[in-house]
Amino acid sequence: MHSKPIYYEEPYRKTLDATVVTVTEEGLILDQTICYPEGGGQSGDVGTISGIALLDTTKDDDHTIYHHVQGTPFSEGDKVTIVLDWAHRYKFMQMHTAQHVASGLLFHHFSIGTVSVHQGQKFLTIETDQAEIPLSVCYELEDLVNEKAREGKAVHYEVHTQKSAQEKGLRRSIKVEGDGVRLVVVEGVDTVACGGLHVANTKEIEVFHYQGQEMIRGHVRLIFTVAETARQEIRKTEAVVEQLKTLFSSPLEELVATAEKAVTQAANDKNALQRCNTHLASLELAHRVDIAEKKDGIPVILWDVDADTSLKDIGKASTSHEDLALCAVQQYNDQVLWLIVLSGKAASLINFSAQRSTLLEVIDGKGGGKPPIYQGVGSKDRFALLSTFKDLLQ
Ligand SMILES: [Zn+2]
Repeated sequence: MHSKPIYYEEPYRKTLDATVVTVTEEGLILDQTICYPEGGGQSGDVGTISGIALLDTTKDDDHTIYHHVQGTPFSEGDKVTIVLDWAHRYKFMQMHTAQHVASGLLFHHFSIGTVSVHQGQKFLTIETDQAEIPLSVCYELEDLVNEKAREGKAVHYEVHTQKSAQEKGLRRSIKVEGDGVRLVVVEGVDTVACGGLHVANTKEIEVFHYQGQEMIRGHVRLIFTVAETARQEIRKTEAVVEQLKTLFSSPLEELVATAEKAVTQAANDKNALQRCNTHLASLELAHRVDIAEKKDGIPVILWDVDADTSLKDIGKASTSHEDLALCAVQQYNDQVLWLIVLSGKAASLINFSAQRSTLLEVIDGKGGGKPPIYQGVGSKDRFALLSTFKDLLQ
């Protein structure tokens, strides 16, 4: 049993009384419906059925329409009232009609084909058959669609036989079989076979806004917003630009150059800071070597490193000391970072390979390296590693 689709006859109808024919696991089947099922790149209708939330509308391959409601509050024979979420539906009708106008213009004016389309909550996307589309074409298309919206072109339907529809030489192949082919005509702009829902006049598109493009399957996919969503997106972008102008104390014309300069400056500052930190680490290590206790004349350093100094810098600095037995640890969030250096004669004090498990098991650590520098991570008490290292030197 198929629901009678009232949405084709009355696409602007917002409420309808219907009778529950069957309750299935997939959802309710009604005798008639104004709920458009998901398909053709358009999402299914939402709203309420007798006050219960209608979460989605879908159809199966057999064109049976399922109304997905929360829970199972209905039984066969129940009289119900459908109330559409009209803002949701109308937004999709606007976007979908804008897509026809845009795809029609792309084809007839720019010789660009449409491969696939999608109407999301916010963005309308058109996957074209092109590997490249210059920005000037995107803006020209935007202008032309807005022109068609201003001109107020009527959108109407024609029902054709398969033969008479084929003879029209449409830009898009007809996907339905048999007669009764529904053609959507945007007066003077585009004619295609389509089972979707459209506004009655292009003036209802209101605003058509080019948002950008991306590559998909080697094709350019154009991204647009329509009507209220377009206005919101434009305002949002303007608000961000205003904030950036204030942040960089820059007029619009100089904003990009100012931002680029700031990014370059920040990168240079970061490098300079890095060099300072490396130098500081080497100074601190040299100081610790000077005051270190010695084992067989080799300085021994046990170092709990603060957060401002990096073990990497200490490792680097250690290469300028001939003989050195160093064990450094650092707490980093839940982790313990560790560094062991056994350079020159220190290699004879501790054989790292032989003592690796003794050292690392106390902090549940892992890692390694090659002589004379070893490093890694662990957890548990970092001071246990320092004392184990010290014990091995006794
Ligand atoms: Zn359509």
